[in-house]
Amino acid sequence: MSQRLQNRHALLTGAAGGIGLAATAAYLAQGARCTAVDLPREPSHELAELSRQYGDRLHYVACDVSKTADIDDLLAAAQARFGPIEVLFNNAAIFDLAPLLASDEAMYDRLFAVNVRGMFFVMQKVLAQMVAQRSKARPAGTVINLASQAGRRGEALVSHYCATKAAVVSYTQSAALAMAPYGIRVNAIAPGVIDTPMWQHVDALFARYEGLKPGEKKAAVGKAVPLGYMGSPKQVADAAVFLASDEASYITAQTLNVDGGNVMS
Ligand code: NAD
Repeated sequence: MSQRLQNRHALLTGAAGGIGLAATAAYLAQGARCTAVDLPREPSHELAELSRQYGDRLHYVACDVSKTADIDDLLAAAQARFGPIEVLFNNAAIFDLAPLLASDEAMYDRLFAVNVRGMFFVMQKVLAQMVAQRSKARPAGTVINLASQAGRRGEALVSHYCATKAAVVSYTQSAALAMAPYGIRVNAIAPGVIDTPMWQHVDALFARYEGLKPGEKKAAVGKAVPLGYMGSPKQVADAAVFLASDEASYITAQTLNVDGGNVMS
C-alpha cells in the first residue's frame, strides 16, 4: 500500500462526519497521524471505528473553531500528542439559507463566525506554528481550506454562505502568497454537491423555500452535474490526499474544483 503521507501530522477540523471524516480516513490510510477535531465532547461512532483500525495514530480533540480563544488550546493538545502540525485540512463549516431580504444579522454572524473567522484563525495559528517550527528535516507544511462552488457565484437564497466561501478562496490566495517564501503551500478545494450529512439540512431548507418535496432538491442537483451524480466524500478526500502530498509540491494559491464539472475555471 502506498503511504503518501507517511508519519505526517495532519489536523482536520469538522472531522466527525462527511468530507472531514473521509479525509481523516484517507490520510490515515496514507500513513498520517491525525488530530481530528469537531464539536462533540466524544468522537463520533465513525471516528471511534477509525481509532479501532488505526490505534494511536488518531487523536480526537473537541473544539468549537468559532471560539478563537480555544484554538491555542486545540493546537497545544495536537502538538503535545503528535508534534508540529504538517498538514491542516481546514474543513469545519455550517450552512444556512434564507431569501436575501429576510436573512438577518443572527444568520450572518453564525455563518461568518464558523466559516470565515474560525477558518481564518485556525489557519493563521497553524501557519504561525509551521513558520516557527520549520526544519530541514521535515517537508514544509501545507494547508487545504474547504471552499465551495458556492464561493464562485452568488445564489439568491444563499447569499451569506456563498460570501463565506468566496472569502475562503480569497484568504487562501493571500495566505499562499504570504507563506510562499517559507515553502508552505496553501490551497483550497471547492466541492460541488457532495452527499454528506450537510445535505439533509440543505435539502430541507430548499424544500421549505422552493416548495419542494423532501429529497427533490438533492435529486435535482445530482442530475444537473455534468457527470450526472452527486459526489462522494471519498472523491473529495482523494483530492485532499493529492494536495497534501509531495506530488502537489508546485501547487499553491489554487482552489481546485471537485464537482463533476459544475464549475469551469
Ligand atoms: P457536514 O455538515 O457533513 O460536516 C461538517 C462538520 O463540521 C460536522 O461534523 C460539524 O459538527 C463540524 N462543525 C461545524 N461547526 C463547527 C465548529 N464551529 N467547530 C468545529 N467543528 C464544526 O459538512 P460536509 O458536507 O462534510 O462539508 C465539509 C466542508 O465542505 C464544509 O466546509 C462545507 O462548507 C464544504 N462543502 C460541502 C459541500 C457539500 O455538498 N457537502 C459542497 C461544497 C462545500
